[in-house]
Amino acid sequence: MKRFADISIRHKVALLILIITFVIFAAVSLGFTYFDVTNFREQLANEVRVASDITAANTDAALVSGNKAAAAETLETLSSLPFVLRAAVYANDGELFAEFSRPGVQKPPSRLSLIPGTHVDENSLGIASPIISNETQIGVIYLEASTHELYQRIWFRLRLVALMLAIALPLSLILGLRLQRVVTAPILELSHATRKISHDHTFSVRTKKIGDDEIGQLVDEFNNMLEQIAQRDAKLQLHREELEQVVLERTRELTEANSELRKAKEQAEKASEIKSQFVANITHELRTPLNGILGMATLALETEHSEELDEYLKTIDNSSRTLLDLINDVLDFSKIEAGKLEINLTKFNLKDFVDKLVKPFAFQADFKGLDFTVAVADNTPREVEADIVRLRQVLTNLVGNAIKFTSKGEVKIEISQLSLNNDRAWLKFVISDSGIGIPKHRQDEIFDAFSQADGSVTRRFGGTGLGLAISLQLIDLMGGEIEVKSSPGEGSIFTCTVPVRVVDQHRLKQPAASIANGNSVSKASVQIAGNGSLRVLVAEDNPINQRVAVKLLQKAGFHTAVVSSGVDALDAVKNETFDIVLMDVQMPEMDGFQATEEIRKFEGESGREPIPIIAVTAHAMKGYRERCITAGMNDYLSKPIDYKELVATIEKHAANEAAKSRTSPQTA
Ligand code: ADP
Repeated sequence: MKRFADISIRHKVALLILIITFVIFAAVSLGFTYFDVTNFREQLANEVRVASDITAANTDAALVSGNKAAAAETLETLSSLPFVLRAAVYANDGELFAEFSRPGVQKPPSRLSLIPGTHVDENSLGIASPIISNETQIGVIYLEASTHELYQRIWFRLRLVALMLAIALPLSLILGLRLQRVVTAPILELSHATRKISHDHTFSVRTKKIGDDEIGQLVDEFNNMLEQIAQRDAKLQLHREELEQVVLERTRELTEANSELRKAKEQAEKASEIKSQFVANITHELRTPLNGILGMATLALETEHSEELDEYLKTIDNSSRTLLDLINDVLDFSKIEAGKLEINLTKFNLKDFVDKLVKPFAFQADFKGLDFTVAVADNTPREVEADIVRLRQVLTNLVGNAIKFTSKGEVKIEISQLSLNNDRAWLKFVISDSGIGIPKHRQDEIFDAFSQADGSVTRRFGGTGLGLAISLQLIDLMGGEIEVKSSPGEGSIFTCTVPVRVVDQHRLKQPAASIANGNSVSKASVQIAGNGSLRVLVAEDNPINQRVAVKLLQKAGFHTAVVSSGVDALDAVKNETFDIVLMDVQMPEMDGFQATEEIRKFEGESGREPIPIIAVTAHAMKGYRERCITAGMNDYLSKPIDYKELVATIEKHAANEAAKSRTSPQTA
């Protein structure tokens, strides 16, 4: 069953009207009935009293005279009054004197038991009054009336009330249902409006006001509220549009800024590329004259000269080498910055690598009176694959620093294998010294470019502060790590860990470097055997470089011929017999690449054995070696020419040729 609160407002109002009608109608009807009945009873009592008084007056003489028949006759007249049921006259002593009763009604009692007054019972109303004669009571008259009519009346009234209610209630219900509209219609309209708003989200809906009552006020307030919401909505919409406009504007600005940034970035990249190119070119330009200076100094040192001149020449030689290192560092650094430096993996023998690496340092350490030891652990693999050039560069820098910053005590190099997983191994290189050390707070900074632990140190030790920055980047490129532990005055320990591929799993049973002490190495001299039978063609346009090359080659005992261009080189190869060609890459008319291609073409056509061609160039940029090899050259040397490297390279290729001719019957 529904709760009253849950039924619709229309039914509520109708029900309330019904209840109110019922209550009011019932109260009014019952009130009237009560009043009517009371009134009727009073009236009956009065009529009984009047009849009783008249009868008493008419019977007093008969009572005084004792004439019962006369009294009975008088009482008999009461039969004309329809409400009288029975009547009796009693003497003063209470004896029944005369009586009257209607048929079917009980006769009055024979003795008076009543005290004069009125009594009412279920069906009758009786009145007893004294009979007075000459101001003395001579008897009592009793008259009893029927109350049947009274009850008839009450019943009739009640039935009438019921009938009227039966008619009035449905009527009031119908009326209520009709009239409720007056009250509920505006409320329902309000409710309808709110539903529409919540469904359609439009605040333009308005409710019609019918009257100025509370509901009318509610409608006003409601409409007012909607108006405000609509206004706020409109404002919000306006704001949103403004915001969208702002966003569009900002997006446009951002896009513009972005494209400007892109342009700037492109310009910066272009500038950086130009810078790299510039550095490459300038280092090339610097290397060429430096080649001349170094070569000439080397040669001059070989000639007879005074002690004074010896000092000058050595200074020139030293300064040139330092300058060369510096140029190499700057070039490396610019390559790293431009992201142009790549790792080139080659297979090499670890023992040979370490031997070659430490040899020059052994001399230096010995010269400074330092203990120089190299310890290679037994577990180190024999042959590995890694970027030998870059690894050498890093270790050279670390060992060089160790010797540079140590004035007494020792410099130690320890090499071991940290771990091995299939053919992947981690090698550990520890370079420790008992030198000046690095303060804790500078230990991170020394790996930054152009940073040195102590500004004043530079003057004492020289250097650019680029070495460690380059080393860190190179080790990083190789996938390894580098770290330093140091305390001022006690020394430094630099540790490098580098991943390598193990080519030959055989361990080095003996420590690789036989150098336990610098002294033992300093006595060992590098053998450079000049082979007098070799004929070398030098193709080089720069006269100083021509002289340097010729002098160096002659010093090694080779026969030489010089040409100044690619065209001449091709002619010379066609018309004369040489064992090897040193080909400068940049030459007028026909450059080294073209000349090599032409020579290879000629050899192919004439069926001649290919002659070993060694490129010589001051270009140290990446990809240059590959270009030379692709062009058909056999090897590559960079300027300034290192005397030992030059001789070793020539001899290597000469030996290869000799081996080839031994195994090939056609050329034998
Ligand atoms: P450079 O040696 O050319 O100055 P590096 O980048 O190789 O540049 O080294 C940076 C600085 O780190 C050096 O100037 C020096 O102050 C400090 N340093 C490097 N190695 C050592 C070392 N073994 N002992 C003491 N200081 C060192």
